[in-house]
Amino acid sequence: MLPGTTPSVTRRQLVVGTATIAAVALGPRAYAQAQAPAGPFKLDPLPYANNALEPSIDARTMEIHIDARTMEIHHDRHHAAYVTNLNNAVKDHPNVAAMPLQDILAKLAEMPEAIRAVLRNNGGGHANHTMFWQLMGPGRGQPQGDLAAAITRDLGGPQKMQDDFNAAGLRVFGSGWVFVTVARDGKLALETKPNQDTPLMEGKRVLLGNDVWEHAYYLTYQNRRGDYLKAWWNVVNWAKVGERYAAAKAGTLSI
Ligand code: MN
Repeated sequence: MLPGTTPSVTRRQLVVGTATIAAVALGPRAYAQAQAPAGPFKLDPLPYANNALEPSIDARTMEIHIDARTMEIHHDRHHAAYVTNLNNAVKDHPNVAAMPLQDILAKLAEMPEAIRAVLRNNGGGHANHTMFWQLMGPGRGQPQGDLAAAITRDLGGPQKMQDDFNAAGLRVFGSGWVFVTVARDGKLALETKPNQDTPLMEGKRVLLGNDVWEHAYYLTYQNRRGDYLKAWWNVVNWAKVGERYAAAKAGTLSI
């Protein structure tokens, strides 16, 4: 766990300092956690520092990949809001509250009509972002082993995969996602979805996905979604994606 990212530090500082000053100094993460209502769905902290995906200035390209402020707003405000809304929606629906998120999404048509749209948007948002934070990281890498072989077999190799994925991401009109899905037999496919929809809604599993909502890139890239899509591959944690691939084939990948 990186310093400054643990809730325990937050609590300790709130006790030691005056609450007002500490809360301001700690920023929106502390605020988001303090505001989170009780409920079955939780916002996990980022598994790395807000600035881990920049890097401040990349030595080779002189570019920022994903800036710290974008990560902070995206995780602490946007994702936190999906979790809050989701918890609020299931408050009076204990049967739904008890279900794993992937089951709720796969059975949207069976969900109570009064909360179905909220579950779709905010449950989809929670699943998509949980996956998104997990598969990124500061280290560069390459697909290995089985996963590398599947990328070559099903998607034409790493470069063609990236080119096709980026082109698909550019074609998403407005807000949405571009995904690589993985079947139980390991077969990979490209797919895009609007809004916070996810292939989980068809009972599929996601190997990886990139968020092409403007909130994911606007501070650094403004309208240049294509540049963001290209730079994003620099922060994909291929070791983590390899773990997701193995889990999908074992039938243990959830979201
Ligand atoms: Mn997002």
